[in-house]
Amino acid sequence: MKKTIVVGGGISGLATAYLMRKQAEEAGIELDVTLLEKEERLGGKIWSIKGDGYLCEWGPNGFLDSKPQTLDLCRDLGAAAQLLRSNDNARKRFIYSGGLLNRLPENGPSFLQSKLISWPGKLRLAMEPFIPKRDDGVDETLASFGRRRLGEEALQKLIAPMVSGIFAGDPETMSLVSCFPRIAELERDYGSLVKAMIKLAKKKKQEVAQGKAVASAAGPGGVLTSFRNGIQELTDILAETLGPATIVSGQGVTGLSKGESSPWRLQTESIDIDADAVVLATPAFATAEILQGIDGGMGATLREIPYASMTVVCFGYERERISHDLNGFGYLIPKGDGMNTLGTLWDSSIFENRAPEGKVLLRSMLGGACFPEYVNLSDEEVTRRVKADLKTIMGISAEPSFSRIFRHPQAIPQYTVGHGRRLAALEERAAAHPGLFLTGNSYRGIGLNDCVAAANRTAEEAVAHLKSR
Ligand SMILES: Cc1cc2nc3c(=O)[nH]c(=O)nc-3n(C[C@H](O)[C@H](O)[C@H](O)COP(=O)(O)OP(=O)(O)OC[C@H]3O[C@@H](n4cnc5c(N)ncnc54)[C@H](O)[C@@H]3O)c2cc1C
Repeated sequence: MKKTIVVGGGISGLATAYLMRKQAEEAGIELDVTLLEKEERLGGKIWSIKGDGYLCEWGPNGFLDSKPQTLDLCRDLGAAAQLLRSNDNARKRFIYSGGLLNRLPENGPSFLQSKLISWPGKLRLAMEPFIPKRDDGVDETLASFGRRRLGEEALQKLIAPMVSGIFAGDPETMSLVSCFPRIAELERDYGSLVKAMIKLAKKKKQEVAQGKAVASAAGPGGVLTSFRNGIQELTDILAETLGPATIVSGQGVTGLSKGESSPWRLQTESIDIDADAVVLATPAFATAEILQGIDGGMGATLREIPYASMTVVCFGYERERISHDLNGFGYLIPKGDGMNTLGTLWDSSIFENRAPEGKVLLRSMLGGACFPEYVNLSDEEVTRRVKADLKTIMGISAEPSFSRIFRHPQAIPQYTVGHGRRLAALEERAAAHPGLFLTGNSYRGIGLNDCVAAANRTAEEAVAHLKSR
């Protein structure tokens, strides 16, 4: 019987433990998996909090169905029937700019009609196919890429809000190739993003005509998908499937050393555990602490991965007190527009049961890499700032009848320039520690789909390692 310890009970750790057990069974390996989580609660960033009839997401509110990873995991867990797709109207997304909520254009004609980008900005964008591609291998920032290919206005009004919406990040420091490898690939392979979109749309059309692909009404972004009881249902089902004998919560790992009778020995606050393989599914800064004793170099590299903080504010209102249209997903705000918040999601419009009958739930985000000092604001100041933005942007002067503030001092890892080099250094050093695996959102994608994809790869590598021993 081989023994594996998975450290971290977020989606990455839970999915890795589940997939390892499944893959080991398929490979005919007897495997004993134990998952150690520092907190009493499992789920990490995933936590669906119910109160006064509202359902508030502490962190993520779902995953996109345009990638298969999380959907496949849900099907495998027998949980496909419990999935909840976001409402069709949630495809309507807005950007606040020039004192207006501008609908994010979804196609060429709507882009031409949109007031979001000025005519000079549109002309600059139209030049994109004629801008030569850059292939000098430089790890370019998202801001530099945006300015070069699309122009300053598109950078500020389209790219920067997207980077803030996904990573709570600053495009001036984030790496294009680490954050959006597919976009870097499109420039490399097609020479232009516009040319790539046209060619890929043609190819898809042909595949649909030949029956090789299915036409999608959802667009390339896909449909945001969750569960009736919130996204926590996913980690709850994973934990239930793994079973209480596998999971030890409230047990933080403090260190790791090479064992005498087994390859690895993990230290926790109260016990030492021997293992044949160890998977660290913890945030980079926590992984650095655990590895300090065996590889200070890996620890130093991991500490170079910065984290952005974020404050999430949920306000519930009587529906009749809000005159603004709430038909859509919500909006993002470019940094230069002088607002306090990064944006607001109209949560009760996205999923049908997030607020009680006759009420609405709005979820605003503050902070991120561009406003790191906001994490220290008092609850009163956070409330004041969110209310001020909601009044300016949506004309809401009513008092919320429900309010919750969630703080994430280390919300999201930032893949800044140099991230690729840091990953290569980590991989090189990890080769000297057979049976040690790192996974989670600190490395190759922060979305739930990315975390599940990484869990799959890690499970495969760990099972192959155990098989070879
Ligand atoms: C506000 C917010 C909104 C988001 N929205 C979305 C969204 O809508 N869609 C989407 O796809 N993604 C979203 N994300 C990103 C996504 O939620 C995360 O990338 C993902 O949940 C991270 O999962 P993880 O398991 O890698 O890490 P975590 O969830 O951080 O889990 C790591 C676990 O390790 C534990 N741990 C730490 N140190 C130790 C130790 N020493 N010993 C034992 N355990 C330890 C922690 O307690 C934690 O439980 C959002 C993130 C945030 C913060």
